[in-house]
Amino acid sequence: MSTFSTTVLGTPRIGPNRELKFATEKYWRGEIDAAELQEVRSGLRAESWKRLQEAGIDSIPTNVFSLYDQMLDTTVLVGALPKQYLAASNNPLDQYFAAARGTAEIPPLEMTKWFDTNYHYLVPELTADVEFSLNPTELLADLEAAQQAEVNARPVIVGPFTYLKLSKMAEGEETKNPLDLIDRLVPVYEGVLELLAHEGVEWVQLDEPSAVTTLTAEEQKVLQEVYTKLAGVKNRPQILVATYFGDTGANLAALTSTDIDGISLDLVAGELPDIDTPGLSDKLLVAGVVDGRNVWATAIDGAVELLSRCDERASKVAVSSSCSLLHVPYSLEPENLPTIAERNEDGSDGLCKEWLAFGTEKLAEIALLSKVHNGAIDPNGPEVLAARDVINHRRESSVTNDQAVRTRIAELTEDDYQRVPYEERVTAQEDLDLPLFPTTTIGSFPQTSEIRVARRKFRKGEITADEYKKAMQGEVAHVIKNQEELGIDVLVHGEPERNDMVQYFAEQLVGYWASEHGWVQSYGTRCVRPPVLFGDVSRPEPMSVEWTTYAASLTDKPVKGMLTGPLTMLSWSFVRDDQSLEDTAKQVALAIRDECVDLEAAGIRVIQVDEPALRELLPLRDEDKADYARWAVATFRLTTSGVKPETQIHTHMCYSEFGEMVGVIGELDADVTSVESARSQMEIVEDLEEHGYHQGIGPGIYDIHSPRVPSVEEMSKALRLALGAVPAERLWVNPDCGLKTRRSDECYPSLKNMVEAARELRESVQN
Ligand code: GLN
Ligand code: ZN
Repeated sequence: MSTFSTTVLGTPRIGPNRELKFATEKYWRGEIDAAELQEVRSGLRAESWKRLQEAGIDSIPTNVFSLYDQMLDTTVLVGALPKQYLAASNNPLDQYFAAARGTAEIPPLEMTKWFDTNYHYLVPELTADVEFSLNPTELLADLEAAQQAEVNARPVIVGPFTYLKLSKMAEGEETKNPLDLIDRLVPVYEGVLELLAHEGVEWVQLDEPSAVTTLTAEEQKVLQEVYTKLAGVKNRPQILVATYFGDTGANLAALTSTDIDGISLDLVAGELPDIDTPGLSDKLLVAGVVDGRNVWATAIDGAVELLSRCDERASKVAVSSSCSLLHVPYSLEPENLPTIAERNEDGSDGLCKEWLAFGTEKLAEIALLSKVHNGAIDPNGPEVLAARDVINHRRESSVTNDQAVRTRIAELTEDDYQRVPYEERVTAQEDLDLPLFPTTTIGSFPQTSEIRVARRKFRKGEITADEYKKAMQGEVAHVIKNQEELGIDVLVHGEPERNDMVQYFAEQLVGYWASEHGWVQSYGTRCVRPPVLFGDVSRPEPMSVEWTTYAASLTDKPVKGMLTGPLTMLSWSFVRDDQSLEDTAKQVALAIRDECVDLEAAGIRVIQVDEPALRELLPLRDEDKADYARWAVATFRLTTSGVKPETQIHTHMCYSEFGEMVGVIGELDADVTSVESARSQMEIVEDLEEHGYHQGIGPGIYDIHSPRVPSVEEMSKALRLALGAVPAERLWVNPDCGLKTRRSDECYPSLKNMVEAARELRESVQN
């Protein structure tokens, strides 16, 4: 048995109290200078290194304290920052932020999701004539600091294969596939290796998460050639290729067949490779046995067993997190949660602190696992027993085994997943008396300063719950009145009471816990606090009925009830790892279904179940996608099939590049679907209709992400285009997303023009 070392693939960087976020925003506002910003970053970095060293982590990932995004850092490192950003300023820091955020004159780089996480990266935009060149200033500065702090540094860089896989070619370029540029990029990485060797670096980590996605044979060949070349560099550090977020499957051989020195495998999301995998035995296997992107305490017995099997496969093994800890909060320490002992004492049952492991706790787990494996700790000693007890305690708790919830799920029948056919529902809904091309919005209205002030006062205890509610009701009344004046057909209450569309419901559901300090970076300086779904989910009381019926009492027009769908609830939460996502989704679906039924009983005739994240849960590998589509459809239908045919169900999706999901959207069988309009309305509608969509459709006719007020003509044109692809009686008129990020003086003029465009179209069609 070999002796194990310890590591993690990366660390959070935003600061335990979001210090880097606040400093960066101050810098942007001109309140601090670049030196002060760098000082905050250096301080956090030094603390992080210390935290890792003290926890007993041997090899420390460095070069991870990005000021915005690691993909953007790599773009700078390889000299691929587009010209317009270089021209935006004389100083590299402001060029960097220009690419990240844009300036008054130029838009930023596109941002998109980092694999299936809720982190977003900046998409490199390349031209065919790009000349990559090594720009190592940041890399070397970080390394120098690490060496001064006597850190056993392992610089982390996004690998060349993943870098190009995630890039796009600039508009109008002949070369369509960025991977075609690989031969020009690899020499820069060769230069990086030589440089790091010269600086005395022993190990470098090249991140290749693209190796867990489905690759063509050709792409596998590229991957293999890249690492054959890099491993062939004479003077270089040892190379660790880091894969994560899934199983490398058939791509593994492309890496193990080369002379790289180590490979990391995500053993939480992926499988351990066969014992006779060629090329594995002489490499360092970095075993990702501690989940780097979820918040549960590691099941110690399973992990120890897994490690002993790693030992049979490779001569050297390091215990590690499955991916960078960027995706989990810093530490559980400041959270106010009862411990198991406290619960035992007061006889309560529920989530216990020990069930969870955030960043700091994961470091301790990694250290413990390596000690157990190395025989430095007795496998039946008190530390191991305690870790085992936690897992048993969680498994046996009544909150993870709510019999009422489980029985209800076991008794579901096919009927619970079905409404009567769409055509029959259309007839049943005729008395809603909607005009042709009905107008509506997606739910939220501007978060005015009044709303924000009231929320802050309420949080600080300066106003009572009742006063807060009154203030929000005032806002609802205001929004209803405005919509009536505009002549909108299906109104909304405006969602002023919701801080966040997931957290708002999570806070009211049994089985969910909202942390106080559990921030994780979503992109740049934006952080989110995903709620933790820890137990069987149920809905003790109606969650939105009072707000919706209050709004409805103020108008004769139909008011649409607004709910967050189960898939989005899961996608933007930390979910339990002790049952399948599909099973968890069913529980949330039933809770939201109950809310639909209660809204209906309270007289609400139109209900929207938002699923902006429907596509986000799509698995990374092709072979897993069909199964997700199956249960995603079932989950949505379970949520919405409890209501009568007379009740109109809407859904909303925040993207229009449906890709693999396009066929699924019709199967959800909502009466009306509204979608974001990044492309032309015509294309969206055509795309859907071609894939069998046959229900109502509201292609967003203007972009709410821009402050611009679109003209009537512009929106008329968009509507006419859409009408080319869908029969008039199925076309709805709405903006492309919620309006909460807009100011009132942007929102209302736009809606006014939108209503006018719908009216004109109605007239022209009816004449
Ligand atoms: N109903 C939500 C809103 O209008 C939908 C938000 C979203 O699509 N992300 O804010
Ligand atoms: Zn949206």
